Amino acid sequence: MLRLSRVLLILDRVKLLDLAIKLKSPNLVVIAYHNVGHHNSYVQTFEEPIIPALIEKQILFLLGSGYIVTSLGEALSILAENPREKIAVITFDDGYKGVYKYAYPILRKHHIKATLYLTAGFIRHRVAPWWEQLYYIISRAEKEGKLHKLTELITQIRGNSWILHETQASCLKSWIESVVRAMDVHELRGLVNTLSETLDIKVPEDLYSTIMLDLNEIKDMVDYGFEVGGHGLWHVNLSILNNDRLTEEVKESLDFVRTLYKGIYTFAYPFGIYNDLVIEVVKSSGFKAAVTLDPHLNYLSTNIYMLGRIPPYKFNLKDIASFKYLLIKY
Ligand SMILES: [Zn+2]
Repeated sequence: MLRLSRVLLILDRVKLLDLAIKLKSPNLVVIAYHNVGHHNSYVQTFEEPIIPALIEKQILFLLGSGYIVTSLGEALSILAENPREKIAVITFDDGYKGVYKYAYPILRKHHIKATLYLTAGFIRHRVAPWWEQLYYIISRAEKEGKLHKLTELITQIRGNSWILHETQASCLKSWIESVVRAMDVHELRGLVNTLSETLDIKVPEDLYSTIMLDLNEIKDMVDYGFEVGGHGLWHVNLSILNNDRLTEEVKESLDFVRTLYKGIYTFAYPFGIYNDLVIEVVKSSGFKAAVTLDPHLNYLSTNIYMLGRIPPYKFNLKDIASFKYLLIKY
């Protein structure tokens, strides 16, 4: 059987992928990176890191294909002047330390700027993202042989609607994904506390500083030319909030971003989730554009509050031919 990766390699060799990209000619390609690092790193995070060499490969490909590679605010300014320009935007969500450690030196080397989407509450209070706190507890529970107790506890919390068939940490990862999208901040805090107390596993105080950016690192990147965009106050699903909480999340997010960076303010919906009301509040608060995690390319006709982003970390064929394929497929 001819596998997709083999077909892509053949198409890449005879330049057919490049031709297809040229014909499709999107105005704006936005790449959504999250964590950056090496897979064998001693610090394991929920968010699987993308390896630095792959980012460099992708950037070199974009530059070599005639794209201007930059931050979102700058891309919007360039497109306002010249709508026919081809621009690729680099974004990093959530503010993982690996961005400073591994990606920033690569971007500097190629004189490229990027947009960092940062969550105000996490950085202000040095609180690790909910999914990382829960992942830490689950990983420790697995190591300490407490997974059975943990799954019992989860079933109790959720009632009979949630029955875990497996007590594997990998299965619990998808549980984390679902709860962080379903709960508001006070529920998430409560959940972390309940799990922590019942299992007698404390989330270490330095979890934040071990895996997330500190303010000096952010300021360093901003001084170089990176933009900071809003990513909510507590990184919750904005579409489940009432009006007051929604407005608080967006407004506080903008206030926070303003303390770090002056320029065009853009927003990344937490988890990429949005609806009409969320868009309305983001727009009326003063953000000039917003990015989703909908995996599509952007054209002049695309709604500027619904910009699509390509998720390279989800792609399992880790070579440049498959990355080119992504740019055509979406
Ligand atoms: Zn995020």
